[in-house]
Amino acid sequence: MKINHSIRVGIGVMALAVVASASACGGGEPRSALRSASEGTLTVGIKYDQPGLGLRNPDRSFTGFDVEVAEYVAGKLGVAPENITFKESPSAQRETLIQNGEVDFVAATYTISDARKDKVDFAGPYFIAGQSLLVQSDNTEITGPDSLNDAKKLCSVTGSTPAQTVKDNYAQDVQLQEFDTYSACVEALRNGAVDAVTTDDIILAGYAVRYPGELKVVGQPFTQEPYGIGLAKGDDETRSKINDAIDEMIKDGSWERAFNDTVGASGYPIPAPPTVDRY
Ligand code: GLU
Repeated sequence: MKINHSIRVGIGVMALAVVASASACGGGEPRSALRSASEGTLTVGIKYDQPGLGLRNPDRSFTGFDVEVAEYVAGKLGVAPENITFKESPSAQRETLIQNGEVDFVAATYTISDARKDKVDFAGPYFIAGQSLLVQSDNTEITGPDSLNDAKKLCSVTGSTPAQTVKDNYAQDVQLQEFDTYSACVEALRNGAVDAVTTDDIILAGYAVRYPGELKVVGQPFTQEPYGIGLAKGDDETRSKINDAIDEMIKDGSWERAFNDTVGASGYPIPAPPTVDRY
């Protein structure tokens, strides 16, 4: 009797939790960024903890290349920076945030992938990064993915493509620990709880410069990570407008200026801009 009762209570609590989280997600309909823009505002998903790319500063301002790209695109859709609301978008939540209509679009070091294209669409790419490794500066053992052996502890982020690549290709060599954010991985690396952090080289470069003499990026990039702007699946009109905006950002010199002003500080060399893929 007692067991039955607690199971029933448990199911009731679970049902309530599902209802509560559905309503917290704002109704669940994807948004059209063009429609939001025509009403004067945009909500944009970015990272809050990635120096050079998407960072919320102590004064609550936002800086980084993704922020610059988002503001440029918003401008082309007719929305001024002060009318953008930024929303933190951890790697594992990006598709859901778009699908539930909690953001109009996502500019958050977001790799365009076929698996993600089942749920969202992408404009871009506006940048092509590659997966790499971050270690403590005095580490001479880890020099690239092939030196990840002897059950090394490697940190990456839940729901990210680098974590998936490790599971697919290096699972037998390393112990993968998945956190919600790269800043949490970097703390674990600094205090010795893990041996290395893996994600895109451009993200790791931002952390390396934040802790000079303490952390370094090693090896050559071993994947291609084309960054797209994630938006509601099937919203071809918005996708095409955002693609136009990225094209213009590259052509009018804003892309290069934005890169130098943000990522430039890390010493990451500016590559040739990518070509937008109008799939
Ligand atoms: N670009 C990769 C991804 O989209 C890694 C960076 C991130 O997690 O934001 O998963």
